[in-house]
Amino acid sequence: MITELDQHRETENPPNAEGLGLGQGMPEGRYLVRFDDICPTMNWAIWEGIEAHLERFGVKPILAVVPDNQDPKLRVDAPRADFWDRVRGWQAKGYTIAIHGFQHVYVNKNPGIIGVTWQSEFAGLSRAEQEAKLRKGLAVFQEQGVRPDAWVAPSHSFDHTTVQLLRELGIPVISDGLGTWPYAEEDGLLWIPQQLWTFEPKPAGVWTVCLHHNSWTERRLAWFGEMLERYNPWMTEVESVARAFAERRQTGWDRWQAKSRLLWGFRIRPVLAQAYRRVAGPRAVAE
Ligand SMILES: [Zn+2]
Repeated sequence: MITELDQHRETENPPNAEGLGLGQGMPEGRYLVRFDDICPTMNWAIWEGIEAHLERFGVKPILAVVPDNQDPKLRVDAPRADFWDRVRGWQAKGYTIAIHGFQHVYVNKNPGIIGVTWQSEFAGLSRAEQEAKLRKGLAVFQEQGVRPDAWVAPSHSFDHTTVQLLRELGIPVISDGLGTWPYAEEDGLLWIPQQLWTFEPKPAGVWTVCLHHNSWTERRLAWFGEMLERYNPWMTEVESVARAFAERRQTGWDRWQAKSRLLWGFRIRPVLAQAYRRVAGPRAVAE
């Protein structure tokens, strides 16, 4: 029988994590960086600065590319004609290119299996509808000579049908989930969790920081450079994570951690914060 303590022990020292330098007595996190909403009309001026920082520190991010963007919120700059050249160039440099949905258009309020938002392009749709979207998205990648290295769902929302289709369509990695460690399923599908939306010191684990640069200012860009400098010794990339965790399976402790992070971060804390604002707000004004 596996006791909770045993699960702890395994979690603190995942069996195949040596490749990441995560040995015993090294309770430090490793960090992946992910940029979402990469498309021809993104914020290019800021992007060039981001790429310069990535180059300077040798960081290989996950880039979540929208195959056929139809979301007006992602139309920030004029479309760049060389967009797919750039994507191919990033992939050639070792960046992980993820397929970020199909058109980035939400069609319902289904939170899917991750449960952090209430909007989806995929979750709750029929298998046929989901398959059609995925195949159209993948066709764009194929036409452009881009390999789909991973899946990043718009708004983190997808369901078991989506996962089954990703498996059938040969997408090897899912970047999502609130657990602490990556794990692979029996057939090789690798789950790399994505738990952070900013850089912060964390204990042992593989922490993916998800960033959206469309709204960034020069100041935010400078912050990003500072963060890469500070966290550089602990940065990793998908290739190393895939090697280190190919044999690790999901544990009950993984599920418990994901569930507790979801409950605290996305159910309880927002309600408390809202209640606090209601109570403290008027007082703050009165003072
Ligand atoms: Zn997105």
